[in-house]
Amino acid sequence: MALQNRRGHDIAGTSLIDWPITYKELRTYYEIAERRLGVTRRNGVPGLPASNNFKVMYAGAKKLGYQQVHTGHLAINSRAFDGRSFCIQQGFCVQGCKIGAKWSALYTEIPRAEATGNLDLRVESTAIRIEHGDTGRVNAVVYRDGQGREQRQKARAVCVAGNAIETPRLLLFSSSSKFPQGLANSSGQVGRNYCHHITGFVWGFFEQPVYSWRGATIAGVVEDELINEPKRGFAGGYRMELVTLDLPTFPLVGLPYGWGRDFTSIVENYRNMAGMFINGEDLPRSDNRITLDPVVKDAFGLPVAHIHVDDHPNDQALRKHAQAQMSRMYEAIGAKRIVLGPTPPATHNMCTARMSANPRDGVTNAWGQTHDIKNLFISDGSVLSTAGAANPTLTIVALALRQAEYIVREMKEHNI
Ligand code: SF4
Repeated sequence: MALQNRRGHDIAGTSLIDWPITYKELRTYYEIAERRLGVTRRNGVPGLPASNNFKVMYAGAKKLGYQQVHTGHLAINSRAFDGRSFCIQQGFCVQGCKIGAKWSALYTEIPRAEATGNLDLRVESTAIRIEHGDTGRVNAVVYRDGQGREQRQKARAVCVAGNAIETPRLLLFSSSSKFPQGLANSSGQVGRNYCHHITGFVWGFFEQPVYSWRGATIAGVVEDELINEPKRGFAGGYRMELVTLDLPTFPLVGLPYGWGRDFTSIVENYRNMAGMFINGEDLPRSDNRITLDPVVKDAFGLPVAHIHVDDHPNDQALRKHAQAQMSRMYEAIGAKRIVLGPTPPATHNMCTARMSANPRDGVTNAWGQTHDIKNLFISDGSVLSTAGAANPTLTIVALALRQAEYIVREMKEHNI
């Protein structure tokens, strides 16, 4: 799953810990999640078709001897499923899936939950505080509704799912005289160990048009470098994922800042461009963290999140290796030019309320239940103990399914 101290990968300058849960324990929930989301190339679901961009990636990967190259395990319908259409390969997916072929809780699970009559969705509301009673158990969430009015919802249990920036922010500014460091933060770990994945674009330019924008944007992956092989000069691994950007976004976020003829010649050749993106495991560092900004406030007068990140040398070595391999792939099939794009600061936000066996090292136990407060749960990517190299949604969903069962059990037994 990820680097683990018990396997002897204790790396200086990191705050690596072991997960308190094994893959075997989580596997059943991964399988449920894959079936629920209709993940491609699992359970007999066909893969998405190969786009031109993927065919270029595939040809380069095979030249280098890579074996694990395919159109990905994606929660995008390759055939009609669950009342939603199949992917029409129109592209520009980063604008949002136009026909709902891509799974999203917004139009799958939430409407279904509403239909049961057991979900009361308070739209356009923002939680501003979690409150607790004398015993320390949380008992209410205070929020601003769509009109900015303060409301208070009593609660027997609270699950926070704001992900790795907003979840620690809410816990931190819910501090009280009983919990002066913020809720669930006796360890001081809330907001720490922020992980975001190693990123970076690599673009290859060819003699002939590629039309990289046609087809599902991310339907392609090379997984051979996913392994932990320290001989490469770094720990952990990475995936090489298919990517393209629409033309207005491409010069804005996909290219190093530039000007003049050389820069515009890249944009002029957009039609002939193929692209890949690095998704690599970054290592947790205690000082890579979310804190409350001492100056800037949001519309409700609450401190915004302040994010501090320093690359670990391992992160830099991994990125360099990935950029070199992607460049080699394109060069091997005759690219005229390779352009290394910038490295966006984050793709996936994770690990800022991580699960740990020892309460000293993290914020929650293996169920996402906070070590300090029995009826306070974290139900998002904050609970990942390490980032791994895969996109985290499936793990988040699997952990949430497992957590939901646990909460039902604990409620029935009146433990919470
Ligand atoms: S190409 Fe992208 S936006 Fe279009 S249907 Fe497929 S997933 Fe959705």
